Amino acid sequence: MSNELKNTFIEVSDLKKDYQVRRHFLARPATLAAVAGVSFTIEQGGTFGLVGESGSGKSTIAKLIMGAERPTSGQVVIDGHRFGAQASASEDAWRYRALQPVLQDPYGALNPRMKIGNIIAEPLRIQRWKQWSRHAGNPAADGAAPALANSDAYARRVAELLELVGLRADYAERLPNELSGGQRQRVAIARALALEPRILVLDEPVSALDVSIQAQVLNLLKDVQAELNLTYLLISHDLAVVAYMSTQIGVLYLGQFMEIGSKEQVVNRPAHPYTQALIAVSDPDSGLDDDVVTGEIPSPLNPPSGCPFHPRCPRADSRCAESKPLLRQLGPAHWAACHYAESVVQVHENTDIVSAIAA
Ligand code: SF4
Repeated sequence: MSNELKNTFIEVSDLKKDYQVRRHFLARPATLAAVAGVSFTIEQGGTFGLVGESGSGKSTIAKLIMGAERPTSGQVVIDGHRFGAQASASEDAWRYRALQPVLQDPYGALNPRMKIGNIIAEPLRIQRWKQWSRHAGNPAADGAAPALANSDAYARRVAELLELVGLRADYAERLPNELSGGQRQRVAIARALALEPRILVLDEPVSALDVSIQAQVLNLLKDVQAELNLTYLLISHDLAVVAYMSTQIGVLYLGQFMEIGSKEQVVNRPAHPYTQALIAVSDPDSGLDDDVVTGEIPSPLNPPSGCPFHPRCPRADSRCAESKPLLRQLGPAHWAACHYAESVVQVHENTDIVSAIAA
């Protein structure tokens, strides 16, 4: 897929993550394949949207890319830095600065007792502490902490970051409970930008916000991306949010891609019944059937035979139950894992999926 893209910045290759779990205390450990071999690329300045239901593996992929978890196999290459099952401390330190998360819950992510200015400056202080610690030994050991709080330099940087996210400098003196949900998410974005990262991992960044506020925060993220040439990995259960933000989309189910490609191909020419169901949920006027996403996603501890989607698929037949479809290319920048993708594909050149957000 990388040949389709210019300026590949992140390349994820056959990434897998297994967990050993016990169904109960006396049971033998069983393997849970949370991520079952995914590959994709993100171009510099682009947004890759990972969409799927809870349990699809999208948050695990984000953790693997951020380094919060190690993959069982496969690798992630970010701007030439290679991360596999092992990574050096220096490479991890580079990744810590290059990637920053913006999480779902803007209130839970902010310490309620810290002023906004201190919250935004905290990553700068931690980074300065690490630099100081490397040069001067471990400050925690001798009780000597560098005096970093409330310097003019920090105050200026905090004011810059607040302005970048559309808040006045005097917000630095407020507490999180004095802010609205949208303002708190702006603060979380400002904090994520403090170390001048090159990539933001946006994990359900607006799902905790009122619909009326969601567009403001998404538009802010677009503006910041354009101004700072940031690359985004966006995770959402909502295909409308993903379609509004992304240049490329991957539709995940049980840790595997059902469909992947450019936003235009996946949204306007969905070739997998699961993608069509997600579109139907986001756009009830699409004419597509959303009934297939009722019910539970199967347990990854006991995945279905054949096509992983076949127990919920309205088009499934005996071939689907026996034979697993490979992810195969249907056209430029478009892949789907369905035996019948060519007959499943539906063309919606004027899909209205993002209208609720863009309005
Ligand atoms: S392979 Fe069969 S079960 Fe799987 S998505 Fe296609 S039609 Fe449905």
